[in-house]
Amino acid sequence: MTDVAAREHEHGDMETGDGLSNRLTWLRAGVLGANDGIVSVAGIVMGVAGATADRGDILIAGVAALVAGALSMAAGEYVSVSTQRDAERALITAERHDLERMPAEELDQLREMLESRGLSTEVAREAAEQLTEWDALRVHANLEFGIDVDDVANPWSAAAASALSFTLGALLPLLTIMLPAGGRVWATVLAVAAALALTGWTSARLGYASPGRAMLRNVAGGVLAMLVTWGIGNLLGTTVV
Ligand SMILES: [Zn+2]
Repeated sequence: MTDVAAREHEHGDMETGDGLSNRLTWLRAGVLGANDGIVSVAGIVMGVAGATADRGDILIAGVAALVAGALSMAAGEYVSVSTQRDAERALITAERHDLERMPAEELDQLREMLESRGLSTEVAREAAEQLTEWDALRVHANLEFGIDVDDVANPWSAAAASALSFTLGALLPLLTIMLPAGGRVWATVLAVAAALALTGWTSARLGYASPGRAMLRNVAGGVLAMLVTWGIGNLLGTTVV
């Protein structure tokens, strides 16, 4: 284990790389992306709908908001996951070198890590030897850094997933605001409120938080955003345009 890595990654644990927690992470990211898509596109189409009754204008604004939001989410996710991937790769490379250059020290380190996780010295020594023979790099990467060597973060799939989830969320207000004038504003408010209740509830459940409050906060935030942009659109639509 390298010195820098040791200092920066003492928190490494067995949970990362576990299939279930990985799926939960993805699910949580998907729900948050959908939530973003719902709130930001709802705000924009409501703002435009407050200013004009022209469905074409509302549609153009909504589609532009959807595309811009999805691309911005994808770009942000790509950058952040690329950085994470580079860091994971650098740690794995450093660990591979250490294992080649000083196998005895690494074996000792593995035994200590196993002991600190509750094994007796004798059992830890035996386990360290067996694990080293099985796949030293995999075991060190997992125990020291919480990295699964087969599952290094992938920036492209992360970018695609967040663009997709944003788009799915954005489609809801985009479709409801295309309903005939008269009902469309209320239909959008109701549909968005219901969808935000669902995403709020789901992300709270995934995070083991209390679903009731999370739902309320999420709905209140989204409805407030729609009211504000609708009000601004109304003001600008009647005074400026
Ligand atoms: Zn090591």
